Amino acid sequence: MSVDKLPSGKWLEEEDDKKGAGTKKTLWFEFDCPSCNANNPVPDGFKAKEEISCNYCGTTFEARASDEGKLRLKEI
Ligand SMILES: [Zn+2]
Repeated sequence: MSVDKLPSGKWLEEEDDKKGAGTKKTLWFEFDCPSCNANNPVPDGFKAKEEISCNYCGTTFEARASDEGKLRLKEI
């Protein structure tokens, strides 16, 4: 039995931690709602892990940073 290769999920978690630390200062000031495609300005800005709501359809999302540091939204 070989233990050379660890489950990929373990490495993904470690990568997320590193990238999260590197992009912790990223602030976005607008987002396009994935549900209704409306553009929502956020004057105060928001960061990854924060919750934001669409002003048009009311859907709430959690902000995430993608591998490239781009904004991704997860519907809550
Ligand atoms: Zn919307």
